[in-house]
Amino acid sequence: MIPDSEFGYELLVCRYAELAWYPGADPRAEIVSRQLGTQRRRWDTVVIEVDPEAFAARRAFGDRSLDSDLLHVVRDAPEGWEWYRDALPDPGYPWRYVRQAVHRAAGRDLIEKRRRGNRIEIRRIGPYPDWVERIVAIENKPDLDRSAADALADQLAHDVETALADEVWLATEATGDRVEPALLRSMPVEAGILTTGFAVEETRTDGFAVDETAAAVDWLPSDLAPGDPGGRDPETVTRRLEIAERAYGKGWRSYHDTMRPDCRHFELRRAGRALVPHCAAKGRCPTVRECSGSCPEFSPEPPAWRTRGWPIEGGPGKGIRELLERRRGRVRDRVASDRDGF
Ligand code: SF4
Repeated sequence: MIPDSEFGYELLVCRYAELAWYPGADPRAEIVSRQLGTQRRRWDTVVIEVDPEAFAARRAFGDRSLDSDLLHVVRDAPEGWEWYRDALPDPGYPWRYVRQAVHRAAGRDLIEKRRRGNRIEIRRIGPYPDWVERIVAIENKPDLDRSAADALADQLAHDVETALADEVWLATEATGDRVEPALLRSMPVEAGILTTGFAVEETRTDGFAVDETAAAVDWLPSDLAPGDPGGRDPETVTRRLEIAERAYGKGWRSYHDTMRPDCRHFELRRAGRALVPHCAAKGRCPTVRECSGSCPEFSPEPPAWRTRGWPIEGGPGKGIRELLERRRGRVRDRVASDRDGF
């Protein structure tokens, strides 16, 4: 049994993907994020398979995401000094917005800029690399029942049709022996099925754990990428890059930005090789929505905790944030340094 909200399950799937991608095959360099997509469709878990060498070059542009305006500037910035309006493609919207993006990009050291008379010239710090190889979307449904299966079938069919991702999967927890085959059969045939076995009888924590063997492939997905490499229109290519950039900046551990690790009841608990949030007041993994300042049991950590270095310097809230950020950075380092390992 997975007792803790779809959110808790989602974190376990993210950690599994980080440990074991590609399921049932040779490892691939990847970064994992969650809750990304387009206005119309938000995916639970997103795996970005990367070219490690190009990924290392991407790191030269910093640890933060590049949004669409910055990408427009950084991708097309010229090797030598040029007036930005000559160098960049027509944006299709007023140039003054591009000028703002030029200033922002220069402020983050993503490009160089100088003023010549009343013209702003730019040049690149290096070519923006082609680091994204494939985008994989995973939809998480720990308890797959008939209504969830029907809703999911529609969403996955949409994913297959738009081919924004290269591959889509359903992750579901094996309850009893197997997930009911009839439910799985109602999924689009192109979607892969990953059956997780996170629930374990004997753990020190809440009865679930994750490691690299914690899931099995029930059905392999089809490749949704167009056969011809130039088959995606430029708008789709840009949208995919924007998603990958958001995944790069956000990772999957950034829930501390929206939850309340500064609440005295907030803990991180070990679930096998994952750390997941736990609310001591509720006795379970809280949802993102309930773990907020309006939570009736919210209780700010006492100021003394922050000053006494208890149990982590800066107080538990700050310590938890730093720990999660460090882990996100460590994943980026590993992917970039494993250039020869994949
Ligand atoms: S008591 Fe509320 S705010 Fe505090 S950790 Fe639990 S869910 Fe979050």
